[in-house]
Amino acid sequence: MSIHKIGIIICDRYRRCAGGKCFSSFQKRQGAFSRYLHQNAEIVGYTSCDGCPGGNIEYAAEEMIKNGASVIHFATGFLVGYPPCPSLEYFKDFLTNRYSIEVVYGTHPIPQKYYTLHQKLQTWADPKWDDILRDTLSDEPTRIAYN
Ligand code: SF4
Repeated sequence: MSIHKIGIIICDRYRRCAGGKCFSSFQKRQGAFSRYLHQNAEIVGYTSCDGCPGGNIEYAAEEMIKNGASVIHFATGFLVGYPPCPSLEYFKDFLTNRYSIEVVYGTHPIPQKYYTLHQKLQTWADPKWDDILRDTLSDEPTRIAYN
């Protein structure tokens, strides 16, 4: 069986994060990692975008691809930060055009506290967010577990 090799890029606002929620959800195949349920997968790279405007997106992806990555996940922090990363769609377009690599929005399920506040703020009111959040919305008990 082939192995999905995954690179994770995190928003630099969370650069001190040790990846607890990302790695836990990867092991449990939750959130955006549910696509690898019952499949072999490994994480071959984990780094930050290096801060706005995201200068490391280009170089980190290249290094991950050299390490065998076939898919890049933007960590859930891209989606739930206050505000969400303003460049996430550009970054996805850039990587898919530059490297012909699959890019996935999100890693672990959205924590409920972020979900609740973004609902109040109507951050995700534009219909484009339906697609962006699809893999990480999960159900409420799961979101609560990631608070
Ligand atoms: S908002 Fe976007 S560009 Fe800025 S640090 Fe976060 S991921 Fe990087």
